[in-house]
Amino acid sequence: MSFTVHGLAVSQGIAIGHAHLVSHALLEVAHFTVAPKHVEAEVTRLRSAVAKVKTELAGLKAASGSAPSEVDAFLGMHIMFLEDPMLVDAAEALILTRRANAEWALVQQMELLVEQFEAIEDAYLRERKADVVQVVERVVKVLLGHPGHLPPKRKDGLGTIVVAHDLSPTDTIGFKDHAVAGFITDVGGPTGHTAIVARSLSIPAVVALRHIRHVVKDDELIIIDGIRGVVIVDPDERVLEEYRLRKAAVELERSKLKRLKSTRAATLDGEEVQILANIELPPDAIQAKGVEADGVGLFRTEFLFMSRDSWPDEDEQFEAYKSVVKTMAGKPVTVRTLDVGADKELEGATRAEDNPALGLRAIRYCLAEPKMFLTQLRALLRASHFGRMKILIPMLASSNEIDQTLVLLEKAKAQLRERKIKFDESVPVGGMIEVPAAALCLGAFTKRLQFLSIGTNDLIQYTLAIDRGNEAVAHLYNPLHPAVLRLIHQTIQAGAKAGVDVSVCGEMAGDPDCARLLIGMGLRQFSMHPAQILEVKQAILRADAADLTPKVQRLLKLDDPDRVREAVEKL
Ligand code: PEP
Ligand code: MG
Repeated sequence: MSFTVHGLAVSQGIAIGHAHLVSHALLEVAHFTVAPKHVEAEVTRLRSAVAKVKTELAGLKAASGSAPSEVDAFLGMHIMFLEDPMLVDAAEALILTRRANAEWALVQQMELLVEQFEAIEDAYLRERKADVVQVVERVVKVLLGHPGHLPPKRKDGLGTIVVAHDLSPTDTIGFKDHAVAGFITDVGGPTGHTAIVARSLSIPAVVALRHIRHVVKDDELIIIDGIRGVVIVDPDERVLEEYRLRKAAVELERSKLKRLKSTRAATLDGEEVQILANIELPPDAIQAKGVEADGVGLFRTEFLFMSRDSWPDEDEQFEAYKSVVKTMAGKPVTVRTLDVGADKELEGATRAEDNPALGLRAIRYCLAEPKMFLTQLRALLRASHFGRMKILIPMLASSNEIDQTLVLLEKAKAQLRERKIKFDESVPVGGMIEVPAAALCLGAFTKRLQFLSIGTNDLIQYTLAIDRGNEAVAHLYNPLHPAVLRLIHQTIQAGAKAGVDVSVCGEMAGDPDCARLLIGMGLRQFSMHPAQILEVKQAILRADAADLTPKVQRLLKLDDPDRVREAVEKL
């Protein structure tokens, strides 16, 4: 039966495909049959995941030195469960005999063990079933962290629609190598990292659909309308035909935009505008070059550190940064230092915090881990020798953080000089304006830094006190709130006065509906996902800066968010 669900459109476009349910909820792992030739590989996948968890647990055990002895005992017990033939060996047998996928086989065996524990009279031993569940959960997480089990392309030519409760940035990055037609999730907001990665892949996505994972069946036909935020499950032939036509129209519009690739971005009255690209991993630079971006305005380096057991060392980071600098061939490449924390978790690094968005994240984390930070700074400096690099520091709130960062940068430079390694001695250092405290004390920033970049995603989150990943408050997340607009405007104006370049690299810069507003505020540098560049360029080419400036000045005096929205629509 056909039905429609409404959510938040976070990545434009229309997708038609078959549902593939991805679940991180343990007892709901998908069950599918593995092709005979892949059965051995499935067993290996299970074995490697078990080995990985065993190593992790052994590492935790070794590090648990002063922890209570129960912790040590539980870790030992978890390792023991992984060595129990009733669990892993029996799951392997299920894979081989029933050609089952690894996570399903493991959960089946876990359920058998849980039943046996439940029958035990001794309360303490009975409770041990929770430990079996926990350890299996760890293994399933590892298995699902690598979406190598996406179904192959179907004969009808339609792609896969990933249906999930939520996708971590690492999951979404994992889908980069697969032919995914669209994403739909129960939770999420427009600037959560899942949405950001979906946009960077130009894959339609609708989030905050609440219970979509429970109402969609595996393989069911689905339409994602990433423009209106609508998901149509099991559409009838008439609706399907209408969407086929709309999809073709969207694709035609996209192909027309391609003609703007080599057009220089300037307003109708001749104001030159730079349009730069946001990237997450070095290969994304190829996409940035493909749309002739004026450079990279934001390289989110934390993605190099994710989905792995250990951090990349200096040489590995150097190669990654150098490859981007070389791909961009003389165009500026702005590399942001590690912005870890909140929803961007690193294996073994981030600790559980009650309020991670207000916790030890971004520059705070780096200053607390100077050894790791110095390694990144050295790698960045070394890469600066091969092109035009700029270093960007995230989430600064006060001048002493800038001073401490600059001291560490000098130290990294001294270390390289000692090793007789060349680097750009005057590599520009800039700061992100993401915290209202920074936007209100700009003098401290313009005096010490060479450029500024406004991270509107976090600036909105911190100004309006709205967790950007919390779907319960997603409707309150408002880029056009007058308080937010005034902070952006002040930053642009303070930069112009001090002769310090200011760009916007948050999601607002990539929204064509905000382009005229930002031009009217005086912004001349935009950084966004490569997939959004041509559409924003089109909006800029149609804008008249001289006409917009007084209109925006008036709009900035309004206090009512609804009136601001109306005024922006009229621009
Ligand atoms: C921002 O906060 O606007 C930003 C660009 O950084 P991120 O989205 O990576 O937090
Ligand atoms: Mg940010």
